[in-house]
Amino acid sequence: MHYQIIVIGAGAAGLSAAIYLARAGLKTLVVGTQNCSQLNSAYDIENYLGFSNGTNGKELLRNGTKQAKKFGAMIIEKNAKKITETNSKFEIRLENGTPYSSDYIIIASGMLSSFDFASSLNLELNGKLIKINNENQTSHDKVFAAGNCCTKTRQIAKDVGDGCNAAINIIKKLKNLPSYTDYGSLEDQVQEVQQAQ
Ligand SMILES: Cc1cc2nc3c(=O)[nH]c(=O)nc-3n(C[C@H](O)[C@H](O)[C@H](O)COP(=O)(O)OP(=O)(O)OC[C@H]3O[C@@H](n4cnc5c(N)ncnc54)[C@H](O)[C@@H]3O)c2cc1C
Repeated sequence: MHYQIIVIGAGAAGLSAAIYLARAGLKTLVVGTQNCSQLNSAYDIENYLGFSNGTNGKELLRNGTKQAKKFGAMIIEKNAKKITETNSKFEIRLENGTPYSSDYIIIASGMLSSFDFASSLNLELNGKLIKINNENQTSHDKVFAAGNCCTKTRQIAKDVGDGCNAAINIIKKLKNLPSYTDYGSLEDQVQEVQQAQ
């Protein structure tokens, strides 16, 4: 089965990326299990915007998964075992042996597996993290990374933001757009403001 993007990791960064990609109409597969996300053990989250009474990681995972599926992302609760690249297409084999292919990859595997993926795709590292630029693009132009596999911050707000940034930069590439927002074009927004005045 071929997807435009495969997101490896169903935690904060991966689910955030999937929401943006799916909302942009791109064929998106997320692989990864909720119980291996760090969010699973974050019982009392008091610093994530919008939750004045706090929240917990299981709730964010549950709602994030529901939200990504609502916009059309496919989520498979299995780990990726192997990635290979042939003729500019990636093939990802899951732990049960099933192969999936894609044009782009986002690695959002948190503290797990990122070295294996980095080495099979020959990605540059920055110490123990996958090296990215300010578009969350790795040293491979079709591989992006987001969250704890490429940042030391280790805060949900940053991981969710990274997922968003990686997704938006892929959307721009695939749709050949100079800029992209998920709430209509800037021109539309300016027009709406002018009409309201
Ligand atoms: C106890 C605890 C409390 C915390 N409390 C807070 C807090 O209050 N506030 C805050 O901002 N942050 C908190 N954090 C940090 C926060 O949980 C992490 O920064 C965040 O979850 C990282 O997001 P991520 O998407 O990078 O990785 P994760 O959320 O860890 O997700 C990684 C995903 O990758 C998947 N994966 C791994 N290997 C593979 C593979 N081979 N194939 C497919 N999928 C794979 C996993 O299954 C998982 O779905 C806490 C962390 C912990 C451990």
